[in-house]
Amino acid sequence: MARILLVEDDEAIRRTLTRGLQESGAVVTTASTAVEAIRTLSTDRPEIILLDLGLPDGQGVENVRTLRAVDHRPAIIVLTGLDDERVAVEALKLGAQDYLLKGETDAEQLLRLIRRSIQRNRQTVQLEHQRDSAYLAATREPLTLLPNLPLLLELARQQQAELRGQQALVLGVLVLDGL
Ligand code: CA
Repeated sequence: MARILLVEDDEAIRRTLTRGLQESGAVVTTASTAVEAIRTLSTDRPEIILLDLGLPDGQGVENVRTLRAVDHRPAIIVLTGLDDERVAVEALKLGAQDYLLKGETDAEQLLRLIRRSIQRNRQTVQLEHQRDSAYLAATREPLTLLPNLPLLLELARQQQAELRGQQALVLGVLVLDGL
């Protein structure tokens, strides 16, 4: 079952969620600050982060940005109060998979949400990986990984296009100057 990092500074919520998740078979580690979460990220390699947006050392969507910068692989589900759904939508734009309203969700619902997010996140990471490999295969020599001929030609073409742009600009300036 899923490895989950729960980042929440409210002890009561942390305990309730942890218990519910563990009863459903999840492996849960907890953190109560952003700094603690960052430390745990590198050692525990969670598949999913349940992230409170109001932490003592980090507020709002900054928390999403910070954790994604440390490790972009885990899916993030944002925990939010009823009154800050707008912030949750911001968090989604920054790459969080989902959000849930505190106090509105029971453990069973939460787990369903988690499974769905993990699934979706795996697909995204896989697609990114495939795209990177395809790009590398198309642009590099297999043994040396140096740029291959098609890539060099493409770079040369881009450079020429840039040069032409500059020439056009110089010409334009000259024409204007002559007026
Ligand atoms: Ca909080």
